[in-house]
Amino acid sequence: MNAPPSDAAQRRAEPAIICYRSDQLPAYDPGKFAAARQSMQKINEVIVPPRDAGTFEVKAGQFFRIVSVEGSQVGDLNLWNAGNLDERFFSGKTRQLHASHVTTGDRLWSNLPSLRPMATITHDTLDWYGWDEDGAGVHDVIGTRCDPYTNYQLQSLHYHYCCHSNLSRALATHQNITPQQAEPHIHDVLNVFMCTGFTLDTHQYFMKASPVRPGDFIEFFAEIDLLGALSTCPGGNCGSSHSDDTTPCFPLMVEVYQPDGDSIQHRTPPPNGYNGTHGV
Ligand SMILES: [Zn+2]
Repeated sequence: MNAPPSDAAQRRAEPAIICYRSDQLPAYDPGKFAAARQSMQKINEVIVPPRDAGTFEVKAGQFFRIVSVEGSQVGDLNLWNAGNLDERFFSGKTRQLHASHVTTGDRLWSNLPSLRPMATITHDTLDWYGWDEDGAGVHDVIGTRCDPYTNYQLQSLHYHYCCHSNLSRALATHQNITPQQAEPHIHDVLNVFMCTGFTLDTHQYFMKASPVRPGDFIEFFAEIDLLGALSTCPGGNCGSSHSDDTTPCFPLMVEVYQPDGDSIQHRTPPPNGYNGTHGV
């Protein structure tokens, strides 16, 4: 609509500045986790059926893995402080502190006012993927979660097995409340194994078939006591569609691991240190 000003090129040539310097965060120390990863024993396993969700609990100091089984499948992950559902995963700030897609060494941060690491990613078998020619990567913190409201807006259909509904039902079962009571606790997810980006021309969110294959996993260290919920997205590997019952879908497995007693020295990070006065 508007012609560029005469100095448009100069204005566009300003340097890009990283908004948040992740080098000001505590450095990721793989050595802290190495011995524990060697010795840890699996203590729990949850199979999440296709187009459904399941919950799991992980104590601070334990690890959990989300594992691909049977077929290429994307998962939508919600995390809460196990003792306080008001503290939950903050995908937006995680994106700003790390990147649009996360991998080993990145942390999953909680919402304000706590803003602390809930979990640290300690292994990612898809770390080889990097960025492809479309600009896509794996494990995004861009997308929200497929939901029945957007689906209804676009298609005028009532579909009940979007990740938002799956997560609502799973949390309701865990908390012994109704899905309607659980729904406000459902939040923007980590899109586990999902391969996404923004189109280079119109900058629209896109997905492409996930590179995940059975046996692949992403592993997390629980920084605080966690309640997790994982949905097996009705989009399957998200290579064609989502929010329907036609796409091939597979289960996902969550494994919880206990490291040897003294193999890891862990102190739960305290809630954020800002004094909370907001200037008043
Ligand atoms: Zn989904």
